[in-house]
Amino acid sequence: MPKLTLPESQPDRRPLQVFAFDPMLGRAAGNRVVIEVANERLDPGPLGSRVAVVDYDGANDCYYQPVNLDQPAILMQGGLEPTESDPRFHQQMVYAVAMKVIENFELALGRRITFRRNRRLRLLPHAFRGANAFYDPKLLAILFGYFRAERTDPGPNLPGQTVFTCLSQDIIAHEMTHALVDRLRHLFIEPSNRDVPAFHEGFADIVAIFQHFSLPAILRDKIQETRADLRSPTPLVQLAQQFGYTTGQGEALRTAVDKANPKLFETLDEPHERGSVLVAAVFDAFFNTYQKRIRDLIRIATGGTGRLPDGDLHPDLVNRIAGEASRTAQAILTMCIRAFDYLPPVDVTFGDYLRALVTADFELNPLDEVGMRAAVIEGFRARGVYPENVVSLAEEALLWDLTENLEQFPVEHLANLMLAGAQQYSRSAPQEPPTSSPVSDEDRDRDIGVEHFAFSDMALEQAQTDLGEVAVQLGDWAVRNAAELGLRPNVKIRVLGFHPVFRVSPKGQLLVEMVAQFTQHDESYKPQFGGIPLRGGATVVASAEGRVRYIISKPMPSPTISAEKQKQANFRIERQKEFVARCDRADPFLAWGDDNYLANRIAQKTNFAVMHQGVLR
Ligand SMILES: [Zn+2]
Repeated sequence: MPKLTLPESQPDRRPLQVFAFDPMLGRAAGNRVVIEVANERLDPGPLGSRVAVVDYDGANDCYYQPVNLDQPAILMQGGLEPTESDPRFHQQMVYAVAMKVIENFELALGRRITFRRNRRLRLLPHAFRGANAFYDPKLLAILFGYFRAERTDPGPNLPGQTVFTCLSQDIIAHEMTHALVDRLRHLFIEPSNRDVPAFHEGFADIVAIFQHFSLPAILRDKIQETRADLRSPTPLVQLAQQFGYTTGQGEALRTAVDKANPKLFETLDEPHERGSVLVAAVFDAFFNTYQKRIRDLIRIATGGTGRLPDGDLHPDLVNRIAGEASRTAQAILTMCIRAFDYLPPVDVTFGDYLRALVTADFELNPLDEVGMRAAVIEGFRARGVYPENVVSLAEEALLWDLTENLEQFPVEHLANLMLAGAQQYSRSAPQEPPTSSPVSDEDRDRDIGVEHFAFSDMALEQAQTDLGEVAVQLGDWAVRNAAELGLRPNVKIRVLGFHPVFRVSPKGQLLVEMVAQFTQHDESYKPQFGGIPLRGGATVVASAEGRVRYIISKPMPSPTISAEKQKQANFRIERQKEFVARCDRADPFLAWGDDNYLANRIAQKTNFAVMHQGVLR
C-alpha cells in the first residue's frame, strides 16, 4: 500500500522565553515570559535574515559559543530558560526582543523592513565593559555593555553583581528603535534643532514602554495591584529598572507618567528629558482612551456606581480590562509608528510629529470613533507642544495641507515594481554573511530605498537596476517641481528613498500610497552650524495613481519659492543658529577645544555613544 506523505509545513511563529523586564525582577512571579516572533530559519548566532547576533566580548577579547535556536532540544522548550549565567540565553533574548520591535514597525508601516543594502543589523550582547548601550550607525550595530552594580546603593540587586544591559527588554527595544528610526529617517541623526535628538530618544522610549502592554500575565497582575489605575508607578510605566537602581539612581531610569506642565517643554534641552515630554503626551493619550474603553466594564461590574469595591477585583473583570489595555496600547503604538511616512526628511519638530500623527490616522480612520486622535492632540496641548504655522489645535488645522493640481507623480514604473515586490513579500531576504566594514557615506548616497521591497536573490539585481531608473524619474520630477517642494531648482536634489505603502483601515479598506523623500543641502552654513550643513527637503505622499496629495516640506531659502515658504526657510535658519548658541552656552569644552573641535562641535553630537554616556540611552 502506498504511504501517504503530507507536505512538511513550518509553524508561522517561534516562541522564545525572555525576562519580561530585566533580571532584577527575576525573582518576582511572571517575570519570565514567552514572546512569539515570526519563524525564520536561523543559523547559530542567532543569525537571521535581518539581524545577526555576534557575541564578541570586547573587554575579554573572545567569542562566546553562539546559540542554535533551530536545535530540536532548544526548539522543544521554546528556547533556553531565562538565566543570567548562560551567554547563549543572552543571545536568544536580544534576538527575540529585536525581532519583536521590527515586527511592530512592519505591522504599522505595512511593509517589510530591511536594513541598508540588505545588510543585517548586528547585535553585540557583550560588546564592552560599561554602564551603557548604544546604536552605532557606521557599524550598523547595537553594542550592549555590562558592568558591576554599585557597591553602596544597588537597590534590590546584590552589591557588585554584574549587570547585563542586553538582558533588559527596555534597553533592547530602545536601541532597536534608534536603529529603525535611523533606517526610516537617516538625517534625524543631525541635531538641527532641539527637538531632533529629543525625538529620537522619546520615540525609542515610547516603543519600549508600549511593548510592556503586550505581556498579558504582567498586565493582569498590575491591573489587580493598581485597581486598574495604570498610571501608578509600576514596572509597566517605568523604563529600565535594574539599570536605574544599579547605577545608583535609586529608581527606574525614566517613567512615562508626568504632571503635565505647559511651561516645562520650553525649558528642556537635554534630549532624554525633552524626549520624555513626547512619551508623557502619548502615554496620556493612551491612558485616556483606555479609561474610556473600560468605563462600561466598570459600570457593569459595580452595578452602575462606577466605584470599585474594596478587596481584590474579580479575575474575569481583570481579564477584560487587561484585554482593553493591551488593545489600546497596540493601537497607540501602531499609530505612533505609522506617522513616520508623513514626517519631513529633515529638521523634525514635535509639532511636525503631532501633525504627522493626526494626518496618518485621519487618512486611515477619518471618523476616530474612540477619540484616540483627540486624546493625542490633548496630550500634546497639555504639555505646551504646538506646531508652527497652524492657526489652531483643531484637527482640521493640524492635518498637513492637501496639495492640488501638481504634475502627476511618476508612479507607473514604480507600480510595476511594487507588484513584483508584493509578490516577494513573504519570501526571505537574500542571505549574506555579516560584514564588519563600516557603511561609508558614499554607500548611503547610493542607497535609494531598495530595502523597502523584499526581492528574492535572483530578482535583486534586476530590481536594483529598475529602482535606479525610478530614482532618476523621481529626481527629474523633483527638479521640475522644486518650487512646490521648497527646494532650489539649480542645486542637486537627492532622492533619499521611496516606497509603496499598503495599509488596511479598521473598516477593512485597503489604502495604497507612494511615498518619496527628497533632500538638498548647502555646505556654506557648516561653519556657523558647527559642522552641519543647512538641509532642506520634502516628503511627498501620492495616491497609487500618481496624484500628489501631501508635500511635507522644510524649505531652503530661495527666490524661486513662495513668500510663505521663504518665511519658513528663514525661520528655520534662525532657529538653527539659536540652537547652536544654546549648545555652546552649555558646552564646557568650548573654551578648551582646538580648531577641529570648534568646526565640528555640533556634528560630533550625532554620535549616540557620546550622547548616551553615563545615563544609558
Ligand atoms: Zn537613546
